[in-house]
Amino acid sequence: MKSIETIISELIESAHVLENVASVALSEASGRVLAADVLAQMNVPPFDNSAMDGYAISAPEGFDETTAFRVVQRISAGETGVPLSRGEAARIFTGAAIPHGTTQVVMQELCVVSDNVLHVRAVCASGEFIRRRAEDVAAGATLLKAGLRLTAAHVALLASMGVEQVLVRPLLKVALLTTGSELVDVGQPLAEGQIYNSNRYALAALFGQWGCEVVLDEQVVDDLSLTIDLLRRAAVVADLIVTCGGVSVGEEDYVKQAVTSLGELHSWQVAMKPGKPLAFGQVLATPLIGLPGNPVSSFLTACLCARPYVRARLGMARLLPRWFDVLADFDWLKPDVKRVEFLRTTYTDSGVQLAGTQGSGVMTSVANADVLVRVEAGQVVHGGDVLRAVSLTELMSL
Ligand code: AMP
Ligand code: MG
Repeated sequence: MKSIETIISELIESAHVLENVASVALSEASGRVLAADVLAQMNVPPFDNSAMDGYAISAPEGFDETTAFRVVQRISAGETGVPLSRGEAARIFTGAAIPHGTTQVVMQELCVVSDNVLHVRAVCASGEFIRRRAEDVAAGATLLKAGLRLTAAHVALLASMGVEQVLVRPLLKVALLTTGSELVDVGQPLAEGQIYNSNRYALAALFGQWGCEVVLDEQVVDDLSLTIDLLRRAAVVADLIVTCGGVSVGEEDYVKQAVTSLGELHSWQVAMKPGKPLAFGQVLATPLIGLPGNPVSSFLTACLCARPYVRARLGMARLLPRWFDVLADFDWLKPDVKRVEFLRTTYTDSGVQLAGTQGSGVMTSVANADVLVRVEAGQVVHGGDVLRAVSLTELMSL
């Protein structure tokens, strides 16, 4: 058995970054991975402007509440005024350009104006309520780095620079093959002995969230030649083939044989629970990841092992999720002695508790969980112990 760390690094090492980068409109860029650094093309804000509705004043040395300012102009957002001289003020609105000569902006709540003469009710500091040119971004600075997945906040920054198009990595084309003669697609009635093909939907949703485009999504019965045919078709259309089920040691497990006949396969026993059988190889020239069939095992091996690989193919800078400490609010007295266990847990006021039974077929505890906690092989856990945890929300998103 290999450790999960070994498996993840072997997967990452073998990952070739998708090369055919493309330019997309900013409105399409959210969720995509930047293919090149973006340098700031301009200062943001481009000019000093008011942070308040109020008055821009040009205050003489040592001014106070008795100082009278002459209101000489009115500047709304989008307008530029004329320079202020000492003792003058401009009515000004949020976002409007600060006129030359302004020492500070006084919010309107602190201003008393009559007959175009302004008195301030409280003295404020020089420079107050002025948003300085380039205080957010200076022209020429590296604004965003290649390998970043663009979020709404990054899109906002790019828009503030007037950027219209961004260079991004393509989506990873995934062929998803679920195997098993017992599987029935949703919407069909179940006969005795059959189950719904839930992994198909779980995996399509996960890989879709991770920056993949599912270009082929098919179910195949446990049959060698049908599996070979399907793999051959998948290899032509996909950047990555993901299979589910049929990789363990039973005689109805045909994925390994089928892959070996078309390419090569490294099949591993991963020392993790849930999990264990996992395969990696290639069909013709297309890489293949073979996930286990048990619903929780396939879900968690996808999240923990396939996700970093997908991120590497997408050229992402950060491949691994963030791990953090949590306090156990449960006891785990009979650990697996050989395998690391990932327990599905939910937050409580004093840490995390088990989100339900931890069997490898029990999806309810995945659906109810907030975080996965890691328990080492042979590690007994008592309430109050510190454990390493990872957010399922993070694992399920790009
Ligand atoms: P396998 O790895 O093919 O031996 O499958 C292990 C277990 O997972 C069996 O109980 C299968 O019925 C179940 N299973 C396999 N594939 C799926 C699937 N796509 N959806 C739901 N359960 C599955
Ligand atoms: Mg099977």
